Amino acid sequence: MPQVMYETNPSDEKVEHKLTRVEDYEPLIGPETVDRLLDKARKLYGFHVTHFNSTYYGGGVAELLSSLTLLLNGLGIRAGWRVLQGAPDFFGITKNMHNALQGRPFEFTPLKQRIYENIVYENSVRNHLDHDMVMIHDPQPLPLIVHYKKMCPWIWRCHIDLSNPHRDLWRYLSQFVEQYDAAIFSIKEYTQSLAIPQIIILPAIDPFSSKNCELTEEEMTGRLAHYNIPTDLPLVAQISRFDPWKDPKGVIQAFQIARRETPATLVLLGNFASDDPEGAQIYESLLESRDERVLILPNGDDTALVNTLQRKAAVVVQKSLREGFGLTVTEAMWKATPVIGGNVGGIRYQIQDGVNGFLVSSVEETAGRIVQLLKNPKERDELGARAKETVRERFLMSRYLEQHLDLFTAFEAKFRYKGGV
Ligand code: UDP
Repeated sequence: MPQVMYETNPSDEKVEHKLTRVEDYEPLIGPETVDRLLDKARKLYGFHVTHFNSTYYGGGVAELLSSLTLLLNGLGIRAGWRVLQGAPDFFGITKNMHNALQGRPFEFTPLKQRIYENIVYENSVRNHLDHDMVMIHDPQPLPLIVHYKKMCPWIWRCHIDLSNPHRDLWRYLSQFVEQYDAAIFSIKEYTQSLAIPQIIILPAIDPFSSKNCELTEEEMTGRLAHYNIPTDLPLVAQISRFDPWKDPKGVIQAFQIARRETPATLVLLGNFASDDPEGAQIYESLLESRDERVLILPNGDDTALVNTLQRKAAVVVQKSLREGFGLTVTEAMWKATPVIGGNVGGIRYQIQDGVNGFLVSSVEETAGRIVQLLKNPKERDELGARAKETVRERFLMSRYLEQHLDLFTAFEAKFRYKGGV
């Protein structure tokens, strides 16, 4: 059962807080693994680490950090999480940088560079970092490192698909990356020619979060009814930030082809991240495609709705054109729902084509797989069962936690030996 912590509220009543503990994973990963994790954590008791990224909510990085930092603290490791503050023009620039790192054209004018570097500098002034390790996520806060006297290991954790980065931009960013002690990427295809060690850590999901935990039929029916989502026909769903890389237009096109052969309802559910100013525009551009069987809902912050759709959909689609690693893919697989994913980036490591889901490279292929799955409930069940097992074996937060414990241990020892920088 989740750990129960008590705290006194202003009216002096006891408030019960529940946190997931490593022991809760035992039925999923076995007692030996739990013991090993506890043992590794015990040796790091009091270790002080901070994570720095660019949004508290919206997108996979916030999702990962929210579970990881709580688990670590439950183990006595003082893991904090800070967020870069910036105005929309800053996040407009960093989103374009993100897009360029995933292959889009980009002009990094002196003005953009100045805004980027100034905002990062301002954040360094108001953030006093006195830790045993600093973990910086993605390009937004990357240059922070130049503003500190480095007293501990600094790690750059890149979550994006770097298989074909904009060359000039990457050259500029790599001058910062090389000041770190190591860089972490989600898969080996994203590693670069760098003078520092590069580590691979695949992301993972928290099976106990409100997005992934079991729900009752009544709760799920309630969520679907609340948003007027019809259940008379099978549901096809894609749940993603409104972002061009998630190819929502391609999903609608594929659905339009598929529905000619087999009736269904498409739900495109999305949300917006505070570090992604593109979202509203993409959402607006989709609205003309709506009809009674094509629902485009901006209510993706309702985690119980996300959970419900991933459970109730006959098919989940994640037709990304680039994807560092698609948490949404793993979330749906965990719910034994078959996923049709874009044959790109991290999704290739999540889905084994034809075994626990399907990988697709075009609108037509996506349509074909949607029809195939909608017509074959038995195949859906078989793929879904294998998908769930894949997640249990390879993509749970417990594995992610262990890789972080190993990282802390390795760098703590190395740094102590070197006597700091
Ligand atoms: N998400 C959500 N509501 C939405 C869309 C996405 O809660 O409407 C969550 C999703 O469940 C997942 C995360 O945001 O946990 C997205 O992570 P992913 O790696 O799939 O993509 P990213 O947004 O980081 O590119």
